[in-house]
Amino acid sequence: MADNRKYPQQDVKILYGKAAARCAFSKCRKVLVLEDAFSGKAKQIGKIAHIVAHSPSGPRADQSYPQDKLDRYVNWVLLCPTCHDIVDTQPEKYSTEVLLKIKQEHESWVEEQLDEEMSNVSFAELEVAAKALSSGNFCGSTDFHVIPPELKITKNKLTQLSRSYILMGLSRSSEVERFLVSMAQLDSEFPERLKNRFKEEYLELCKVSSGDELFMDMLAFANSGVSDFKQQAARLAIVSHLFHLCEIFKK
Ligand SMILES: [Zn+2]
Ligand SMILES: [Zn+2]
Repeated sequence: MADNRKYPQQDVKILYGKAAARCAFSKCRKVLVLEDAFSGKAKQIGKIAHIVAHSPSGPRADQSYPQDKLDRYVNWVLLCPTCHDIVDTQPEKYSTEVLLKIKQEHESWVEEQLDEEMSNVSFAELEVAAKALSSGNFCGSTDFHVIPPELKITKNKLTQLSRSYILMGLSRSSEVERFLVSMAQLDSEFPERLKNRFKEEYLELCKVSSGDELFMDMLAFANSGVSDFKQQAARLAIVSHLFHLCEIFKK
């Protein structure tokens, strides 16, 4: 039997984006993108469930549903493999209406989380990056021998205080780089958005402070609302990496 279901890339992106790549079941919400610890590549483990079945004999089939919408975002809900099975084996319990409600409530929940994130100063890209780095999944050989960017340190009037932080952060530079490369495969503009948000903050902060104070302000911005040590270390690694790349501070 020919399976002619299609998954237009644009619709898949919308679905994953609006669901924040999580299972839509509120009791589950499993993250559906995994980082492969060996290759450093991101894998999608989500199941795109059809609300109205693609085939006339499938769960929640509806002959009156417009055929051209069957394989589109409007007719999908993102689930983990387990929840997808639950839904498709109990189509009476999980009717079209119930699934639409689950999807809509999940997307509202995602929006609420993002709003909260914004008000916490921190931003989504940084949250994702710091979480991935603190998981240790991007560890490889550690660059203890990273050459300190002395010229840049002097030019920005940084003293031993900031220098020791930068060196600590730079020891994980290759980890940050591996994360950014793997993230770019999923979302090509992710690294730019992360850098740009830091640049914006730098341009604002350098109007009012300089030297060590400015560096500490950048760190405080990255750490806002975070008290966990591993998380702070990950954020320091990101700030130091961007410093080294000359994305922030004077070249
Ligand atoms: Zn399905
Ligand atoms: Zn699930």
